[in-house]
Amino acid sequence: MLKKYLLAPGPTPVPPEVLLAMSRPILHHRAPEFAEVLGQVKEDLKWLFQTRNDVLTLVSTGTGGMEGSVTNFLSPGDKALFVNSGKFGERWGKICAAYGVKTEEIKVEWGYSVDPQLVKSALQKDPSIKAVYIQASETSTGVAHPAREIAAIVKAHENTILVVDAITALGVFDLKVDEWGLDVVVTGSQKALMLPPGLAFVSVSEKAWKMADKAKNNKFYFNFKKERESLSKNQTAWTAASSLIVGLSEVLKLQKAEGLENIFARHHRLAEATRQGMIAAGLKLFAKGTPSDALTAVEAPAGFDGQAIYKNLRVTYGITAAGGQDQLKGKVFRIAHMGYADTFDTITAIAAVEMVLKGMGAPVNLGSGVAKAQEILLKKLN
Ligand SMILES: *Cc1c(COP(=O)(O)O)cnc(C)c1O
Repeated sequence: MLKKYLLAPGPTPVPPEVLLAMSRPILHHRAPEFAEVLGQVKEDLKWLFQTRNDVLTLVSTGTGGMEGSVTNFLSPGDKALFVNSGKFGERWGKICAAYGVKTEEIKVEWGYSVDPQLVKSALQKDPSIKAVYIQASETSTGVAHPAREIAAIVKAHENTILVVDAITALGVFDLKVDEWGLDVVVTGSQKALMLPPGLAFVSVSEKAWKMADKAKNNKFYFNFKKERESLSKNQTAWTAASSLIVGLSEVLKLQKAEGLENIFARHHRLAEATRQGMIAAGLKLFAKGTPSDALTAVEAPAGFDGQAIYKNLRVTYGITAAGGQDQLKGKVFRIAHMGYADTFDTITAIAAVEMVLKGMGAPVNLGSGVAKAQEILLKKLN
């Protein structure tokens, strides 16, 4: 027997009470029982997003939410600025190109956080830029970007909105959507929201809704104004993914019981233990900028293949983590500590990495990373 552990940066494990809730008989999406669930979820999502804005729930993965955040606010020929510091930043550029949106790109070396001053000067140079697209947490590199500082810059531009891919940030670390002025914030179900893949969530500010009134891009399925109208009646425009939303209502109950501050503190504690544990095991962290508390990207030791480490974790120990993407393939492996994750997920991950490396003949003192993580995890509990 090989017991399975899911420690990937999406999908993430689903708590048993949520799995049970989703196994209940299907609710019809126009039935009053479902409207009641959606009405509650609608309010709880605002709590999670720290916003009074509408939070739309779409049946798609996160990328659908990203695509809608281009088509609903911009017209062909409009200009957008995007930060490209990895696989997901690059995606903003690809979506804009698919819809005829002209782009200005801030290219950041993989592993680094963007300097907000670059956003400031780009907006000063070209005031026709209507939207700035960033990641709060770039999952391909395990790096966080300064969303708050960027928001303060964009806020000063009356005709520019800030769109944040917070797919591995929301529910991981603090993002004050209203207070900081994050106009559009996108997340997905299978990361910190502890659900199976299949839902995207998008919050939209008044500033962004005004832009949506003028946007002329083609869209049909991801029509945010139509979704907003439906949501005001506790409905969705199309058939709702009702079982996922029932699961979501359980997730939000768990999250509210824990509290936002505790959720952020837990993620930080696990991330810190993972980072320090990996360093104590003799490994190097990939992040040179601010590391994201959602996941840790670790460099494969010289002469060892990151993909082989990732594969051995799975084959030998039943642990699904993640390898590197694109240019990082073979160079890093990534371990998540996001969503339904706690002390012994972290211990398990570090212990397994040490055992895999030992098995591959890498120089590692078994237990050194685990001991360091235990120290951190003990201290922060008291
Ligand atoms: C997972 C993820 C996405 C969305 O990917 P999907 O496969 O569409 O769910 C987008 N951005 C970031 C930063 C992510 O981590």
